[in-house]
Amino acid sequence: MTDDRTATGDLDGGAQFADGTWSDETDWEIGEFDDESGDEGAVALPTLAVVGRPNVGKSTLVNRIIGRREAVVQDVPGVTRDRVSYEGNWNGRRFMVQDTGGWEPDAKGLQQSVARQAEHAMQTADAILVVVDAVVGATATDEAVARVLRRSKAPVLLAANKVDDERGEAEAASLWSLGLGEPYPVSAVHGRGTGDLLDKVLEALPEAPREGTAAAGPRRVALVGKPNVGKSSLLNKLAGDERSVVHNVAGTTVDPVDSIVELGGRPWRFVDTAGLRRKVSHASGAEFYASLRTRGALEAAEVAILLIDASEPITEQDLRVLSMVADAGRALVLAFNKWDLVDEDRRYQLEREIDRDLERVPWAQRVNISAHTGRAVQKLVPALDTALESWDKRISTGRLNTWLKEVVAATPPPMRGGRLPRILFATQAGTRPPTFVLFTTGFLEAGYRRFLERRLREEFGFDGSPVRISVRVREKRDRRKR
Ligand code: GDP
Ligand code: GDP
Repeated sequence: MTDDRTATGDLDGGAQFADGTWSDETDWEIGEFDDESGDEGAVALPTLAVVGRPNVGKSTLVNRIIGRREAVVQDVPGVTRDRVSYEGNWNGRRFMVQDTGGWEPDAKGLQQSVARQAEHAMQTADAILVVVDAVVGATATDEAVARVLRRSKAPVLLAANKVDDERGEAEAASLWSLGLGEPYPVSAVHGRGTGDLLDKVLEALPEAPREGTAAAGPRRVALVGKPNVGKSSLLNKLAGDERSVVHNVAGTTVDPVDSIVELGGRPWRFVDTAGLRRKVSHASGAEFYASLRTRGALEAAEVAILLIDASEPITEQDLRVLSMVADAGRALVLAFNKWDLVDEDRRYQLEREIDRDLERVPWAQRVNISAHTGRAVQKLVPALDTALESWDKRISTGRLNTWLKEVVAATPPPMRGGRLPRILFATQAGTRPPTFVLFTTGFLEAGYRRFLERRLREEFGFDGSPVRISVRVREKRDRRKR
């Protein structure tokens, strides 16, 4: 069972997913049903961010943690290596590993660039693993990172890497000086000590992503959309004449990747606006890097504003970005930009395209704007608020099951294989996005699952947010018992 958060392919192509929000788990083992610690297919996973200066062995360690050789991302001059996440699994617990990437050729300095990664990790990760080269010892850059991380609310663990044998352990101990607690000696290359480190990591990592990441500051917005839809124009419009863009986050001196923009009287953090401004040319692989940027921004954000050029037909590229938002499980506002170019005929056409192409997100709110004239851009604020409220919403188990009972009594699921699947119980396993688990005695057909989602939305709202529902089938266990 893969976590749909990490599925990067085209969701519509996956037979298992009705609409990108469903997953099935039919392989129940005896006893698992009662075991609360059993893994939750659709539940958002906590994130471990791996930070540190270049060459300390971050990628090697990430590869060892995820057990694959994937974290190596091609370095292309002029293109930033973005943050990439992978799924890791240790002793049956699943989590995301975020490789914070490497150098920035246009960064003002290595120290700033690495400190910035650490800042970002503090805002988005649930635990942070900082990697230091124990052979080299603590450098000025390591110390700069440590200074940032000592303020972290998320737990921080220190890996003293390249301790390939016992002799290195003393060198590792000298890293206590960084003030980040006990340095764990490891050898990413040989695997020495990495198991113990992972035990510690999992002790520190919460079961689910931190709820409080929003409390840590302004809500985080990603501006996404294919090239030339007007992302930079919108950011500039929202930011006015740049004066409302606060480039320095209070209390830090790091070079920001994000912009704080005041909208509706409150600050909002537009994530990775540095990446937005750094236009990737039409060189080979440009689209790949644009999509990496989008993925990175979505990962850091809570809500996405997906810009669509209303003056032109909706394209495959728009839908690809939409898929990325859905995969990331972020709240969503659809902004139809360039409305100043839309006439009566085009408006009619657009409605038909929306019906045809955007049917997978009927819950998304739509705002028609013009980044050029400023038309209706302030309407983005209530739309963002609604979407985030839905994204954070939690329905109590009692309310949920009262509702479910009524719905199922009125409209039972269709028979399968001569049997009527019973829906036993539902629970909201998580928020951000709202994630529900249905426990059933049999497979629920896609049509019925969509029906349930529709009714769930009618009853409880969730405008602007995806909702995930996974079905857990108890069939096997019952059969074995008999
Ligand atoms: P990153 O830039 O921090 O991602 O570092 P890499 O993972 O690319 O590693 C940088 C270099 O250090 C590579 O040549 C690795 O082979 C080497 N390296 C990484 N981990 C270890 C280790 O545990 N022991 C030794 N001896 N070398 C290592
Ligand atoms: P990005 O690649 O998504 O950041 O797009 P840009 O902000 O660079 O905009 C691409 C082009 O579309 C520029 O020539 C903008 O002036 C133009 N543009 C952006 N928004 C609007 C709009 O609302 N109306 C019109 N007419 N043009 C726009």
